[in-house]
Amino acid sequence: MPELPDVEVCRRYLTATALHQRIAHTRVAAPALLAGTTPQGLGRVLKGRAFTDTARHGKYLFGILDRDHCLVLHFGMTGELQYFRHRTALPAHTQCLLRFAGGFDLAYVAPRKLGRIALADSPAAFVQDQGLGPDALTLTEAQFAELASRRAQIKCLLMDQRRIAGIGNLYSDEILFQARVHPRCRAADLDAAQLRGLHRAIGHVLQAAIAAHADAQHLPGDFLLPQRRPGGRCPRCDSTLQTVQAAGRSAWFCPRCQPR
Ligand SMILES: [Zn+2]
Repeated sequence: MPELPDVEVCRRYLTATALHQRIAHTRVAAPALLAGTTPQGLGRVLKGRAFTDTARHGKYLFGILDRDHCLVLHFGMTGELQYFRHRTALPAHTQCLLRFAGGFDLAYVAPRKLGRIALADSPAAFVQDQGLGPDALTLTEAQFAELASRRAQIKCLLMDQRRIAGIGNLYSDEILFQARVHPRCRAADLDAAQLRGLHRAIGHVLQAAIAAHADAQHLPGDFLLPQRRPGGRCPRCDSTLQTVQAAGRSAWFCPRCQPR
């Protein structure tokens, strides 16, 4: 599932390709992905306007329009943007297409149709309306310590979008591994040094993943994610990784580096 680093890579792609181009035409192949609008409603707001900027909050990407509106994209389990010109056939699973006046197309591609497309007045209004927590990359150490006073399991807290926006199943495993914290520890049981380490790991892991273009194979050599599979080994101590259920998901961890 696209998490913060994947969406940030997508935001940079949108910035590099589609800014300041007048939208001439919109087409929605999967109306079920639209939240709070219709294919016609989307077309009415977008047509004749241009994206002047982009923004991201957690796993949401925003294309900001020239007047008090923005397009909101969420990528569900799998999804991406593709920008191209004069392609004879659209990319498979194109669920929404924007055609710009200059002839380029921007396709929202989502094989599993689990994403979401919406309109909002502004990113801030959308974030408030959805009750999202602070973006994981802007979360301060004090905010994190405050959240961590809760009884919740730490993996559950890291993935709770209402508390911290942007982290999902994969990157929570990496953050816990880098901070040497067991996924089923209760947040409230962690000491100050562990909390500091976790907060540092959030920034370190997400920034490293963005630098690696959210491609696990290009992550630093001491990262767990490329080993996150049956038989995978800890990059630090070579122990065989284990899984445990936490937050309703399978958490991968090293039993030696992340003792309970
Ligand atoms: Zn280990």
